[in-house]
Amino acid sequence: MSDQSEEIRKVKEMIEDSSRIVVMLGVGAIIESGGENLWSSRECYRIEDIYHKSPDEMMSVGYYSARRDKFFEFYKREIIGCDLKPAPLYNDLKRLQERGKILKIITQSYFDLHNEAGLKDVVELHGNVKNNHCSECGKKFTVEYIRESKGVPLCDVCKSAIRPGILLFGETIHNDLMTEAVNACEEADLILVLGTNMYDNMVKFCTEDYKSDRVVLITKEEHFTDRYADIVIHGCVSDILPKVIA
Ligand SMILES: [Zn+2]
Repeated sequence: MSDQSEEIRKVKEMIEDSSRIVVMLGVGAIIESGGENLWSSRECYRIEDIYHKSPDEMMSVGYYSARRDKFFEFYKREIIGCDLKPAPLYNDLKRLQERGKILKIITQSYFDLHNEAGLKDVVELHGNVKNNHCSECGKKFTVEYIRESKGVPLCDVCKSAIRPGILLFGETIHNDLMTEAVNACEEADLILVLGTNMYDNMVKFCTEDYKSDRVVLITKEEHFTDRYADIVIHGCVSDILPKVIA
């Protein structure tokens, strides 16, 4: 990997100058926290092998409706069965937040890592595994309730199926959340894209109309869309962040 000291110096300066940073957290933050990218080719293969369906199909609203038992078998094992701990990058973001630098954090992760780490002002585009509710009466249920249930988790009041608090494939992101994310980006004086690439729908949608030349991408994998960012630093987000935060 090439020497990135010049990029690191520049980003450090940009962060120093900024007071309305928007952070976009991608799947890299989950991987650095001990999780898997279900959509990596290795994981897709493993999942197809066990369940005979792709992760997209297993996580779709159609499958949730049609094969709820199978859906929850998958959901309990592969989604809420993972043992994640917030990676160091969350702590660095917290330090930035405490210095009043962050306007908004936008994430597609439905894991609760950001709350566990004590981050505020987070837009959870894809919901949160903790926000489950009864599809009929609306009663709220914890993730432990789902984890400990046998088969399909049912509401203890009306016996209807519990709806996981995350966005499923085939559903659209809630309009209010999208608006909040896009508005934040319009006001941002720096956009930090962490652990994903510029091809990511969330990033594309939110940065499309961003007029400034202050989009910084920090991510492990190189991607052909890296050139759409103004500065790119390749590496583990948890390794790079401490270097760019004074
Ligand atoms: Zn109910």
